Formats: sequence, C-alpha cells, structure tokens
Amino acid sequence: MALLDSSELVWRARDIRCLFLDIDGVLTDGKLYLGPNGEETKTNYVRDGLGIKMMLKAGLHVAVISGRPSETMRQRLSWLGVQHIALDTEDKLPAYLRICDELRLNDQQCAHMGDDVPDLPLMQRVSLALSVADAHPKALNAAHWVSRYNGGHGAVREAIDLILDAQGLA
Ligand SMILES: [Mg+2]
Repeated sequence: MALLDSSELVWRARDIRCLFLDIDGVLTDGKLYLGPNGEETKTNYVRDGLGIKMMLKAGLHVAVISGRPSETMRQRLSWLGVQHIALDTEDKLPAYLRICDELRLNDQQCAHMGDDVPDLPLMQRVSLALSVADAHPKALNAAHWVSRYNGGHGAVREAIDLILDAQGLA
C-alpha cells in the first residue's frame, strides 16, 4: 500500500490544481445497464456532481478520462461545467499529458481518482493517487488515499472535500 499519513496527504492536497476522474466505478458504481437496443444506462450520484461544481467554482479544474464512450455522461459532465473530457480513451496517459499541457500543470499539481488497472499509469504519476473503497486490489495498492465510500456512492465528493479542506476553500 502507498497510503500517506494525514499530514503528508494535506501537504500534497494543497498543491492540487486539477482532479482527474475515471467514470466507471468512480463516478458510477461500475454497473452498465444494457437496453434492448444496445443503449447503456449508468447511475450518477448527485452529491458527487455538487462536489464537482464546488471545485470548479473554487477555481480548480476537473478533468474526466474514461475508456468507454458515453454521450449521456459527456452531456452531464458538460452541464456540471467540466471542460476537459476524454472519453473512449483506453490509454489514459496521452489524454492526461495533453490536458496537463493545456492547463500548464505538472504532476505535482494533479490528482487522479481511479478504481482499476487502466488508472495505474496515472495513479503512479500524479502527486495524489486516490481510489474508492471497492476498487480493484491493484488500484488500492497504488492509492495514497482511499475513500470510505464505494464508487458511485459519494467517493468523489469525499475526495473533493479533502482537496478543498486542505486548501481552505471548503
Ligand atoms: Mg473504472
């Protein structure tokens, strides 16, 4: 485990300018409900959405990188004000580097919250690697901090509260 003690956690959280998020298993519970015409339905947690709005309002950035396409998620994230959305992106690192470049940020200013193996390249790179209570063991192993909540059940909000609290923005 790469878990940090609370003082090191706060120290790193103070420098975070952008929180990168995975969708499936982080912003959602990881379940896909498949309709008769192949359409996918996912659940979203309203408290997470409010946290994203709070973070953006505080002047920080939120970026979302997902391996799967989802037009409805893109619409919801846009509605929340998220400007950096990379969907259908199996290799997350190039998207991460492109967004960092656009925002002129370095790894020390970035956090990533992920729940599975595709998140590892980012979790191993950023200053603050965050995960959810029901993540895959490899993601838990790479995490500096793990939410008490499962994906899609307020884990993102808890991570945002941690960052905003550390920066005195809550
Ligand atoms: Mg995931």
